[in-house]
Amino acid sequence: MTRLCVSLIGSTCRRMIEEMQAAAAAGADMVELRLDCLEDWDPAGIDALLEAAGRFPGEVVATCRRAAEGGHCDEEETLRVSRLEYVGLSDAVDYIDFEYESLKASPNIRQKIALVCGPGLNPAGRPKRRLILSRHELNATPPWYTLRFTLDAMGREGAAAVKLACRAESIVDALHMMDALHYSVPARPTIALAMGEPGLITRVLARKLGAFLSFASLEEGRESAPGQVGIDRMRRLYRWDAIGPDTRVYGVIGCPVAHSMSPAIMNAAFAAAGIDAVYLPLLVEPGFEALAAFLTGVLRRPWLHPRGFSVTIPHKQDLLRFVDRRDGVVEPLARRIGAANTLLIEPGEHLDGADAKLHAVNTDYRGALEALCEGLACRPEDLRDTPVAVLGAGGVSRAIVAGLRDWGCRVTIYNRTRDKAEALAAEFGAQARPIEDCVRHDARVVINGTSIGMWPEVDASPMPPEGLAGRPLVFDTVYNPMETRLLRDARERGCRTVDGVAMFVRQAAAQFELWTRRPAPTDIMRAVVVEHLSGRGLPS
Ligand code: NAP
Repeated sequence: MTRLCVSLIGSTCRRMIEEMQAAAAAGADMVELRLDCLEDWDPAGIDALLEAAGRFPGEVVATCRRAAEGGHCDEEETLRVSRLEYVGLSDAVDYIDFEYESLKASPNIRQKIALVCGPGLNPAGRPKRRLILSRHELNATPPWYTLRFTLDAMGREGAAAVKLACRAESIVDALHMMDALHYSVPARPTIALAMGEPGLITRVLARKLGAFLSFASLEEGRESAPGQVGIDRMRRLYRWDAIGPDTRVYGVIGCPVAHSMSPAIMNAAFAAAGIDAVYLPLLVEPGFEALAAFLTGVLRRPWLHPRGFSVTIPHKQDLLRFVDRRDGVVEPLARRIGAANTLLIEPGEHLDGADAKLHAVNTDYRGALEALCEGLACRPEDLRDTPVAVLGAGGVSRAIVAGLRDWGCRVTIYNRTRDKAEALAAEFGAQARPIEDCVRHDARVVINGTSIGMWPEVDASPMPPEGLAGRPLVFDTVYNPMETRLLRDARERGCRTVDGVAMFVRQAAAQFELWTRRPAPTDIMRAVVVEHLSGRGLPS
């Protein structure tokens, strides 16, 4: 089973001992003593550290990473190695992580490492420690054949495990690292991780692919390598303990994507429904080529079990183009809207994934319609001829106007930029008016699709209160804050209200149902969003 290893980076032995205790409490299977982070090599402190390591319930790795491979040790090599020799004589340490380049560079160093690591007994007559041979590429990910060659070469050294960590410039580099892991695992215990935000997928899916270990930090913001995730987030948000070889992979593709609430909502929903799946944030650079490179790459690796993706800014339009190029199916209304936020992947039989079937769907308009119907306590077919005022003509308004017109509503669009309102109205058979006129509308339903009222401009409202009185329903798509000025004004004037969270949860629920064919646990999903928006969720 893949170990979850927490890197301890305290600058004193005492601090590192505290970190070790915290790592044990957080459920780490393994800790890595990053001796290069210690400011002082004090013998009493090191002995206390080793004594504490002997009490750690899991396994212990010691390393003294040199600066050229991303560590802090710029001491002379023999001094660095002598420190590892010292801790390597202690039974408290299970593994020594040593750099392959350093091993190759000097027969003398190779001999010293062999005294404490490998089969047989050490000079103290005790079993030697096990060796993790590692290599770190701090600037880029080499081509796939170099990755394989390096892992094979390290494997021939007879180490207990081999480790490759490379900086990912894009998520496609992360796919190459997972290829390398997939290739190497049957031959030897392997660690292959992509550093940087695009590499997150390699850290979480390490367990699915049977890696020897994956690293986590003890606290967010105190990472020992770029892109590392906190242990709490690994276990609670990314379902580390539930991931296995058959776990299906989902995620949200966007740029930026790190602050998306979708992983929290979807992983909570999968957990509640007992579904063997994980949902990850996937940073894909803007542009069709980047989206196509990632999706093509994922589809070519059916062993990752990709089953669907949420797609957000800036890729919603390009998703249609990609699905068309693969002869997939585009939902008719998504086609008319010109954007889709959901990809469903039906796996095929081919090992290269070439026969996977793709479906592009827009759940934004579905989410909005469902939220609206619930607010009005009606069915979509009852919406026919309902006069609706839509404020805004951007992406969200476009999906909403298309959905409302599809069900026969009479829609008037009010937008600051008049041309945009008119173009949208013409496309979907709606009316367009200047935003200043919105107070004089005759609509039964008012929908805010502008970003007015969004944090931090929380006192702003897109419609003066006098435009709200007597309207049965006011719906604000803004969800941060949940209680917007518009909704407060509307409630004070006796209107029923629907908040943006309702739409957000319903569009996510529609994705969940599409992917799993199971009812979505919407109460749990909403609770997760509310927890996040109130600042009580996991740090983002
Ligand atoms: P968008 O494409 O950038 O459109 C923004 C709209 O807001 C445009 O119509 C813009 O008018 C208008 N606007 C912005 N600032 C304005 C101002 N100061 N005065 C008047 N009009 C202003 O954005 P979007 O993707 O449609 O998102 C809009 C809102 O929807 C966001 O605030 C977001 O919170 C919300 N949203 C909700 C959900 C959900 O699930 N609940 C999902 C996505 C988005 P111009 O055309 O004149 O620029």
